[in-house]
Amino acid sequence: MDKLIEVRGLKTYFYTEDGIVRAVDGVDYVIEREKTLGIVGESGCGKSVTALTIMGLVEIPPGKIEAGEILFHRGDQVIDLAKLKPKGREMRAIRGNEIAMIFQEPMTSLNPVYTIGNQIMEAIILHQQRKKKEAKTKAIEMLRAVGISLPEQRVNEYPHQLSGGMRQRAMIAMAMSCNPSLLIADEPTTALDVTIQAQVLELMNALRVEFHASIQFITHDLGVIAGMADDVVVMYLGRIVEASSVREIFHNGKHPYTRGLMNSIPSLAATKRRLEPIEGVVPDPFDVPPGCGFEPRCPQAMEICRTKMPELKDVAAGHATACWLYE
Ligand code: SF4
Repeated sequence: MDKLIEVRGLKTYFYTEDGIVRAVDGVDYVIEREKTLGIVGESGCGKSVTALTIMGLVEIPPGKIEAGEILFHRGDQVIDLAKLKPKGREMRAIRGNEIAMIFQEPMTSLNPVYTIGNQIMEAIILHQQRKKKEAKTKAIEMLRAVGISLPEQRVNEYPHQLSGGMRQRAMIAMAMSCNPSLLIADEPTTALDVTIQAQVLELMNALRVEFHASIQFITHDLGVIAGMADDVVVMYLGRIVEASSVREIFHNGKHPYTRGLMNSIPSLAATKRRLEPIEGVVPDPFDVPPGCGFEPRCPQAMEICRTKMPELKDVAAGHATACWLYE
């Protein structure tokens, strides 16, 4: 296995006036070089906080990396990102350069008062020490690579002059402009129309291959993962409840939460099948159940589930789940 990122026992907590939120509570996963890992779960499951922790973007305080390692394999070097100072020189050199991130809503990352070109050029000048003219040529090249027509003209336009899909493409161009080894995409297509969504997913796949990058793809939609990821981890209440290859999870998903997510994916083939939403809501993060976090919503809950937390255990080669049904 050619590892790029190894997350080991990661815990990111938030210390608030109302109590402690264990947003990420002991998470382990590996992202292989030139592969895509999908992280799936509902809002509040910790998938975005995991990404922000890798990027050194968790606000400290109230946030704190309580435990764990984020091992970044760079050639022969292994750097523990969890040990770096978020605003320190080393982390700033990695963030946006070797590890880049795109978000659901490009307008939260694009500055409305600067042209698209200037914003792409800024990263290239900062991280790659290129001259302004060279950076502009590279910005145009990147806009072309992400399928934006008339890139020589678009490079001088402002974010509000582009459509939602174009802005997301511009964000991807900015993120990929320094040729990162890891692109973290946090719900990058959720705000887009379905047809544009498919184009952006296809584009990301193509760029991953072209730039020899890996992707950590975060989504609440297991359906999106199917065509996008090699491996998948399903998160619930800050923990991983299931992890396997995408193929295995779709054919042999074990955890009742994973199966609930699958039953809520619309299918064109099965037009008569009723969609079955997962009943109930994610528990209050200040009042997490003592046993399995999914127990209040689980149709198969047993007595032990109320009091004891199941550990993530292998159920097959490369397939693990945290559920008492498989103990
Ligand atoms: Fe359901 Fe129990 Fe499994 Fe949790 S451990 S998912 S409550 S069966």
